Amino acid sequence: LPSRLPKVGTTIFTVMSQLAAQHGAINLGQGFPDFDCDPALLDAVTRAMHGGALANQYPPMAGLPVLREAIAAKVQALYGASYDPATEITITAGATQAILTTILALVHPGDEVIVIEPAYDSYVPNIELAGGVPVFVPLNPTDYSVPWDRVRAAITPRTRLLMLNFPHNPTATTLKAADIAELKRILTDTGIWLLSDEVYEHMVFDGLPHNSLARYPELRERAVIVSSFGKTYHVTGWKVGYVLAPAALMAEFRKVHQFNVFTVNTPMQAALAAYMADPAPYLNLPAFYQAKRDRFAAGLASTRFRLRPSEGTYFLLASYEDLDTPLGEEAFCKWLTTEVGVAAIPLSPFYAQPVENKMVRFCFAKKDETLDAALTRLQAL
Ligand code: PMP
Ligand code: GLN
Repeated sequence: LPSRLPKVGTTIFTVMSQLAAQHGAINLGQGFPDFDCDPALLDAVTRAMHGGALANQYPPMAGLPVLREAIAAKVQALYGASYDPATEITITAGATQAILTTILALVHPGDEVIVIEPAYDSYVPNIELAGGVPVFVPLNPTDYSVPWDRVRAAITPRTRLLMLNFPHNPTATTLKAADIAELKRILTDTGIWLLSDEVYEHMVFDGLPHNSLARYPELRERAVIVSSFGKTYHVTGWKVGYVLAPAALMAEFRKVHQFNVFTVNTPMQAALAAYMADPAPYLNLPAFYQAKRDRFAAGLASTRFRLRPSEGTYFLLASYEDLDTPLGEEAFCKWLTTEVGVAAIPLSPFYAQPVENKMVRFCFAKKDETLDAALTRLQAL
């Protein structure tokens, strides 16, 4: 039948997780932890659910006020930015819904949207659903930095939106001060909006800062910033995230949001609001994941994989060029899953046109014993 998304199949994350489950492989593919969240967070959900008759009914459309207030306080403390919880913060069903809703709200048919590749796999189908036209700018192949001159060259009078995602999935790079300066310069005298997917904001390593766009008044006034509690609190299955945006952009966002999910489940929001009172869980996250990155990278160093540096996210890219196999990335990942017992994600689905770099993405958000078991298998290759 006529398809709205004729080129789209099943997302690679689902394909690889299903294959890993079928073959009992260690799943370092799809990005999610294999350990549980803090039991205190679970207790907070139970308490929230027992909070009276309204505790399990619809919350306000934009999200529970206590949660929006907790987010406003956090963003103020971390990034020095004031967002009004009444008009500038909305709770979403994860970052996925936040991104689609933003694009549907802001992109009109025929508008151009600049997408930096490799890009998270939902972005381009989302743009196509809105009738927008994706315009691709590849990251520099050597170090995956942003080629700002090429971003500037991609801007036309039809450019409506520039999509950013730092820390970056899948290349694990971060935005530097020089990038922020370039971005400001490029946007001067344009009406381009920004969608900044900052779901990995609390996973930045080696003492690097997270350069949230919220920090920069000239950028935040045109930015919709997206984050997700799933990443930060090890609860990817909860699907709760949020959006920060100036009131005028947020008003448009909410017009779509109210007919998209209307609102997000109440007890999780109440629990997250209570749990956010303590900043330690997210302040400790960089050290927690840096230790896992270092453990996994040290193990991979004695395999024939060649790894790329990971500055942030819970991913790491590795080249399998030295394994001397003719297999392309997707075939290699399937082989690695079924024959070696370790699932990874190919890099190619993050590009609109298939590009073969002999590169795969591993997720290190796993128990140490899971990482060690996977390394033993990879070291045998
Ligand atoms: N953006 C990026 C870059 C991601 O890696 C992910 C996946 N975790 C999402 C958005 C979606 O986040 P959520 O699970 O909160 O929908
Ligand atoms: N964001 C996660 C990843 O990059 C997966 C989310 C999903 O499966 N859609 O692996």
